[in-house]
Amino acid sequence: MKGKRAIVFEIERFATHDGPGIRTVVFLKGCPLRCMWCHSPESWNPSVERYSDGTVIGREMSSGEVVSEVMEDKDFYDASGGGMTISGGEPMFRWEFVEEVFSKVRANGVRTAIETSGYAPLSAMEAVASVTDLWLYDVKGMDASKHREHTGVDNRTILENLRWLDVHGANIVLRCPMIPGVNDFDANIAALGRLASGLKHVDHIDVEPYIPYGIDKAHKLGLKVYEAPSPPEGYAGEMVRRLSGFTSVSVRRG
Ligand code: SF4
Repeated sequence: MKGKRAIVFEIERFATHDGPGIRTVVFLKGCPLRCMWCHSPESWNPSVERYSDGTVIGREMSSGEVVSEVMEDKDFYDASGGGMTISGGEPMFRWEFVEEVFSKVRANGVRTAIETSGYAPLSAMEAVASVTDLWLYDVKGMDASKHREHTGVDNRTILENLRWLDVHGANIVLRCPMIPGVNDFDANIAALGRLASGLKHVDHIDVEPYIPYGIDKAHKLGLKVYEAPSPPEGYAGEMVRRLSGFTSVSVRRG
C-alpha cells in the first residue's frame, strides 16, 4: 500500500466517544507533551516498542492501509452521521500523515475529526485544517507556568493555534481534562470559561475527568505518571456546573 507511513497503536471501530455518530478512531504513536495525568503513556514514544511483558505496542501502517480499514465501515458512518477520528499520542506530531489520510477518506465521502493538544506549528495546523471537519481540541490549563509544569510545554502556541482555527471558522469542541487538586482550581476554571466565551466557533465544551488508566501501562514501560484514584462520584457533574458558571457555551460531561 502506498502513501506516507506512521506507527498506529490502536484502531477502534464503532467508537461513539470521539466525535458524532459511529466512528473509527485511529491512534498514532508519538507525543511531544508529557501530561502528568496521561492515560496513554504507551503513545509517547513515536516508535514501535514493547511492554515489559513482551507485548508489542504499535505497527507501521501506510496511509492507504489506514484508509482501507476506515472505509470498511462507511455504511455505518453514513447512517449515523459519523466518520473517522485521528487521535494519539499527539496526531499533529505526524501531521503530514494525517493530512494524507484525511484527504483520501474525504474524497470517499467520510467526515474527519482530529483529537489534538494543538501543540504544532501553525503551518501544520493550516494544512490539516483544510481537510478536517471537526477539531476536538484539548485545553489542559490556562496558566502558562502551571501548563508547563503539568504537560512539559508552554500553552502559548496551543492557544494561538486555537484562536487561528476559530478565526478561520473551524468547528471546535473544547476538551478540558479535570484533574482533582491539579487543575480544577477556580482561577483555571474561570479562565477556561472566558476563553470559550471569547471564541465564535466552539460548539460545546467536554469536561474530561481524570481516569487512572495510564498507571499500569506506565509501570510496564518504566515510565512515571500521576497516580491518584478515580475522582469521587459526582465530580464530573460538579465540574460541569462550575465551568458552566463562567461561560455561555454549553458544557457537557465528555
Ligand atoms: S497530549 Fe495526550 S497523549 Fe500526549 S501526554 Fe498529553 S494526554 Fe498524553
